[in-house]
Amino acid sequence: MADDQDNLNRARKIFERISQVFSEQEITPSPLNYQVWYEYFKGDKPKFRQEMDSILNDPFGYNDRTGRRLFDEYLKDDKPTSDLDRVFKRLLDAMVKKLSAWTDKLSSQNQQLNDYALRLSEPNIDPEKLKNITDSILHTTRDLRHSSEDVQQDLVQASLEIQTLREQLIEARAESMKDELTELGNRKAFNIRLEELAEEFAERPDQLHLILIDIDHFKNFNDQYGHLVGDSVLRYFANLLRNKQRPKNTLCRYGGEEFAILMNDSSLEQAQDCAETLRAALKKAKLKRRGTNEVLPEITASFGIAQFRAGEKLDDFINRADDMLYKAKQTGRDKVLTEFDTPSI
Ligand code: GH3
Ligand code: MG
Ligand code: MG
Repeated sequence: MADDQDNLNRARKIFERISQVFSEQEITPSPLNYQVWYEYFKGDKPKFRQEMDSILNDPFGYNDRTGRRLFDEYLKDDKPTSDLDRVFKRLLDAMVKKLSAWTDKLSSQNQQLNDYALRLSEPNIDPEKLKNITDSILHTTRDLRHSSEDVQQDLVQASLEIQTLREQLIEARAESMKDELTELGNRKAFNIRLEELAEEFAERPDQLHLILIDIDHFKNFNDQYGHLVGDSVLRYFANLLRNKQRPKNTLCRYGGEEFAILMNDSSLEQAQDCAETLRAALKKAKLKRRGTNEVLPEITASFGIAQFRAGEKLDDFINRADDMLYKAKQTGRDKVLTEFDTPSI
């Protein structure tokens, strides 16, 4: 139940934000455009997202035709997969119904006004009849004005928030890519960045390296000191990652106590050095428990490094780094192994 409510709230929020961006940028609020923007907001498709980003950099970049093309290219065959997708689709259907009811109302009122105009043009119209007709016209136009005032008010309300909306949209997307505990990128951010880099380094794959890291015996540590202390170790390690890196490296929390670094424009030696620096820094860290100042035992991590290969599947690239990590674990932990090493088992 709570999940349903969460999804409904999230879908509503996304829906409102999109509506406001639409009114700011004068984009037709058509179901197709909503679907395109919804997908952009979710950010699951890296290529599509990149293309939208570049379209949106141009103030006149997005129009119905671009929307249609993006839809055909990326979204046409999509079926709603998550609960959020389904809730969003329901909201969209409801909006279409509401809009068409409103247009129906407008057109019937228009029709009525036309009828009055015709009757007014009758020759020799008597004063009593004239009064009835003008009363009816007043009534209809008042009604019409009220409904258009409502819409107007909605638009004004929307435009008040518009300044911050795009930023919020971008911020919300960035939030969805961040790991809460460590504030590094999460798995989703990793996947998106990896796809981008794989494309960028297709011609020079030996300059793209992946380092996978896994903290050693972390389960024992948690069992002994509790999860909260474990969490601060993860945060400490994340800070080590941030402080010991070239800014262009991509740092992610890959899963529980696992981290990943994507190193672009790097040689194998640079990747090894980077991993070695981190390994040594973690090992020599003197961690103390906050409050009691109790000295915590040495914590180590194992590292596996793979070099990208032209044309390979991204999963294969990841698996090769993971194999090396596994070998590092098997051969004693607290070490860095690359696929060019021949570990002695
Ligand atoms: P290995 O050296 O083989 O990697 O041993 P390990 O104990 O680190 O590996 P295992 O995969 O058995 O256990 C991983 C542990 O990581 C389990 C869990 O207690 C801990 N862990 C995963 N995510 C978190 C987290 O968010 N916070 C804390 N405190 N611990 C976590
Ligand atoms: Mg693990
Ligand atoms: Mg581990």
